[in-house]
Amino acid sequence: MAKYAGVIVDISLEKLDRVFDYRIPAHLEERIHPGAQAWIPFGMGNRRMKGFVVNISDTCTYEESRVKELLGVCEGAVPVEGQLIELASWMREKYGCTMNQAMKTVLPVKNKVKEQVKILVSLNADEQMVAAYIAANKRCKARIRVLQALMENGTLQKEVLLQEAATTAGTLKELQEEGMIFFQSETVYRLPKISKEEKKRITLNEEQKNVLKVFRTDYEEEKREHYLLHGVTGSGKTEVYMEMLTTVLKEGKQAIVLIPEIALTFQTVMRFYTRFGEQVSVIHSKLSAGERYDQMERAKKGEISVMIGPRSAIFTPFSNLGIIIIDEEHEGSYKSEITPKYHAREVAKKRCEVSGAVLVLGSATPSIESYFKASCGEYKLLKLSKRINDLKLADVQVVDLRTELKEGNRSVISRALRAQMQDALENKQQIMLFLNRRGHTGFISCRSCGHVLKCPHCDVSLTLHKDGRMRCHYCGYEQLQAKQCPECASPYIGGFRAGTQQIEEVVKREFPQARILRMDLDTTRKKGSYEEILNRFSKGEADILIGTQMIVKGHDFPAVTLVGVLLADLSLHGSDYMAAERTFQLLTQAVGRAGRGDQPGNAVIQTYQPEHYAVREAASQNYEAFYDLEIAYRDLMSYPPMSGMLAMLLQSEDETLLENDAEKIKTSILELEIPLLRVTGPTPAVVSKLNDVYRKVIYLKHEDTKMLYRVRDFIDEEVKNEKINKQIRVEFDENPLYAY
Ligand code: ADP
Ligand code: ZN
Ligand code: ZN
Repeated sequence: MAKYAGVIVDISLEKLDRVFDYRIPAHLEERIHPGAQAWIPFGMGNRRMKGFVVNISDTCTYEESRVKELLGVCEGAVPVEGQLIELASWMREKYGCTMNQAMKTVLPVKNKVKEQVKILVSLNADEQMVAAYIAANKRCKARIRVLQALMENGTLQKEVLLQEAATTAGTLKELQEEGMIFFQSETVYRLPKISKEEKKRITLNEEQKNVLKVFRTDYEEEKREHYLLHGVTGSGKTEVYMEMLTTVLKEGKQAIVLIPEIALTFQTVMRFYTRFGEQVSVIHSKLSAGERYDQMERAKKGEISVMIGPRSAIFTPFSNLGIIIIDEEHEGSYKSEITPKYHAREVAKKRCEVSGAVLVLGSATPSIESYFKASCGEYKLLKLSKRINDLKLADVQVVDLRTELKEGNRSVISRALRAQMQDALENKQQIMLFLNRRGHTGFISCRSCGHVLKCPHCDVSLTLHKDGRMRCHYCGYEQLQAKQCPECASPYIGGFRAGTQQIEEVVKREFPQARILRMDLDTTRKKGSYEEILNRFSKGEADILIGTQMIVKGHDFPAVTLVGVLLADLSLHGSDYMAAERTFQLLTQAVGRAGRGDQPGNAVIQTYQPEHYAVREAASQNYEAFYDLEIAYRDLMSYPPMSGMLAMLLQSEDETLLENDAEKIKTSILELEIPLLRVTGPTPAVVSKLNDVYRKVIYLKHEDTKMLYRVRDFIDEEVKNEKINKQIRVEFDENPLYAY
């Protein structure tokens, strides 16, 4: 039977969906696959052109007799676009999106609509020269207005300046050519020149050397392995990454380094820049699409060889990629929230396979999934167990809030934490107070005994809804809100409503002399305020920084000696299976903030469940012990990574229709009779109504993810054939990080 190849000729944003079908001659069948570059006869005159194969199929979309045949496969190395198209094809299958969506995510496509780049204009010459210039050019009124406006205002945005000086772009251009003014685009990451003394080299310690020895031996033997570097905070992981880069760059290869946006600070970038100089480039969310595209072009042309950036930097079009490093690999921000809902870790693995590159994942608190893969031998485990210079990890004290209540302290600050805060303030040391609200969805617990109400089927916390009922977000189990504790009959049962603002008020009241900064979504909404708060704190303009998880990621404050976690339970009882993992990571990171300078650090973790293993092992900083218990729980409950999980989100404006059809969809899935497939729901999503759209979710679990894809493909067909009402939108998400 004949096979057909879909081919695109023009890689630009508007034309990605212009796919032309060609018949594959039998002798080429073996060599044609998504990403291959082929010769095609194109258009009326059958001009011989190059195109990229994007898909292969048994059928063609138009009349068989009019379909032309491929002429041949282009010889030589596959251009990087080919590699990326191969990646897109894999993403289409894995994440269940269209090829067009996948290609738009993967390819650096130029947007034809010319975007407005903000241009800033500044004076180039000193004031005396400007004055002399004005005197000499008295008759050029427009130029003088420009210069005067700039003298008064300093730097101005181009549009503003044009208005202010009532002039044209031509005038600005003349002034620029004469060297009086200069343009700069606002968001360019300006990297300063490096002075010699900054380039001092570090002598690696034994652990670092051992890790690198393993890496280099493999590399020299041309083994392209996947590594998981598990190194406690401050153990010198970044230093190891840079050595690995050196090894790979020496071979003339290129490197991608992923760092979570929130940790992508100037300091981090400078470390790479100081070491590797101009061959380093950075992309981040503040770049405009055009600037991003320019950086991607530079990568393609080989002008740079190291790209640092968040999630999307994984698609940097290096044609000779040698290594991908993902720092803080456990971070949730590596997973895309929009279709295709890809995880950079998974994409990186595939990209390494396609490009013959090495993958290095690094973290102080590896994701359970990655550590599991390491334990199965899929990743090679590398360890750094000690902090540099034998810096000690903080002394951690766990405070039982039930005891506080029993002994009459109703404040959000325990007596132990208060005493330690007093000490730190007296010694002019800094304090961080951390409220881990992330993932907090409104669980119900007992203040007297710490008991948390859980779903009897799924072992995750029940969530209180506005209608007074408590629900499980996986299976839909529900019950009326409890009025007393089922364990100890105490009436002190309910949800938590603690916010950073309330905490700030309490701290102000209890420590009126302390200078306080608060960092949360409210105080950081304004652009740049996030950096500003961190800067002020690091300059010592405040004694106490109160904040959400934003404050615990990767910032070094040497003067911080005390970290207080106000309520560990908030993230502990999220309504999804990853709650304990997330809590362990957050607590470990928070505790790791204390004692980075020459003073030893202290940390206090407040909780109603001091016996919970996530709290206990974070306090003792024992990752392996936590992992063993967590993986046993995943195994028992068939949660990832022990089983595949697929969330199916159903959305509709019509509530009744959704109600009925969600059940019907579930039935049709059950009728597939896939052995060992587990289906729960439909249940209302955590956000059960959004912008007047109702949301329900069905969860599917199976040990073999292929079975889950089978369900997804079946539903996709049903949608295509309109067996599922068009008023219902269906979305899939594999291994969702949070409950829907
Ligand atoms: P991590 O990434 O594991 O948190 P870093 O690589 O940031 O650790 O190292 C922490 C600090 O220790 C950095 O300031 C780094 O420059 C320094 N450092 C790393 N390795 C060494 C070493 N072998 N000797 C001295 N200082 C080191
Ligand atoms: Zn109780
Ligand atoms: Zn349940």
